[in-house]
Amino acid sequence: MRIKNYHTQLQMQALYDLTMRAKAGTVMYLAIWIAIVWAYNIHEKSPTFFYANGGILLSLAVVRLIHLFKTKQCTEDNAEHLYQILVYILLCTALHWGLMTAWVLLDDNFIEARTVIMIVLPTFAIGGASTLSISHEVRTLYPTFMFMPTICALLYTIDRDNFLLAGLIIVAFAYVFVISGLVYRNYWSAITNNLIAEERAAAMEQLSITDQLTQLKNRMFFDSEFEKEWKRSIRLKAPLSILMIDLDYFKKLNDTFGHIFGDEVLKHASAAIANEIKRPTDCIARYGGEEFVAMLPNTNLDGAKVIAERIRKTIENLPLEHNSRPVSLTCSIGGATIIPQPGGDRSDLVKRADSALYQAKDGGRNRYLADDPRANLEQVS
Ligand code: GH3
Ligand code: MG
Ligand code: MG
Repeated sequence: MRIKNYHTQLQMQALYDLTMRAKAGTVMYLAIWIAIVWAYNIHEKSPTFFYANGGILLSLAVVRLIHLFKTKQCTEDNAEHLYQILVYILLCTALHWGLMTAWVLLDDNFIEARTVIMIVLPTFAIGGASTLSISHEVRTLYPTFMFMPTICALLYTIDRDNFLLAGLIIVAFAYVFVISGLVYRNYWSAITNNLIAEERAAAMEQLSITDQLTQLKNRMFFDSEFEKEWKRSIRLKAPLSILMIDLDYFKKLNDTFGHIFGDEVLKHASAAIANEIKRPTDCIARYGGEEFVAMLPNTNLDGAKVIAERIRKTIENLPLEHNSRPVSLTCSIGGATIIPQPGGDRSDLVKRADSALYQAKDGGRNRYLADDPRANLEQVS
């Protein structure tokens, strides 16, 4: 699953990069062709040659424009497909340009255009190999399709100068192979390393906000979420509730059954509490030791009471056993609600929930008490 995910991400990146690097070529081949036609009156000397090549270059430019448009809407599912299509388009372009160059060399009608076409061809081949060698097929076949027809045409004419030229092009061909190999290896190692670095950074970030024993979010994460939610609630003039949850007599549980069992109980209790906090905007975190904090945005005192009661009952009914003997566990919860005002101190809300928690402890534990400004402390259970 992870490997497939890696593969898809790299494929998306490669498609994006290859598309961007090939973008200039969308109209460049056509534009250079028009310039050569115009400079050497090719349309007058051979209309068939002009229409045939003009038609092919125009069609390739249109296909490339459609491909560019489709790539902008690319999804994970069609990235590989679009990438392959772009590779085929680039190879078709190279093959066409290679064959066209060979034709110019063999047809005496185009004698004046030979020098220019012999400058353009290696420029395209070297330029393409150094920018488009993200794809292994492009790296090997693009220069081959560009150079091979020309080398064959030069050797076919059996002329001393052309033999020399063919030799030079073979050297250029070998050079292109070497640089495209370097580009290919550098590109893939760079994007793979980049992806690994991004994944590591994300994992480190996750680690820094997660409590390792319970896998709940930690206090640092809670503090930053609380700050954001406080500001959001001021803007929306919405109530914000905080619940402080503390497991009862946990020291005694540790002393009786051992810390390892205590840790297991903490994990179970955390999962059970998290299960009761259902809204995506809610946040539950381990506040410290055997104490948890829940932040409930857009929740009034009555809503907070419903959730606190659910948590309290869930902990009370948690099926815990030690050596096949049932172990009972309860928790006390303190809650406070406010509609935050500009300039207000958000730590006051936590202090109020905390003091309600201590009163719940004093009141006998296994209960929820809200710090209700309307009715002093309201005992619920
Ligand atoms: P109260 O009902 O008043 O809350 O009593 P209590 O014993 O739960 O509270 P106290 O603050 O006296 O003790 C908290 C205990 O929680 C102390 C410690 O042994 C235990 N504790 C805190 N963190 C952990 C932990 O990560 N693992 C385990 N096993 N125990 C922990
Ligand atoms: Mg406790
Ligand atoms: Mg405590």
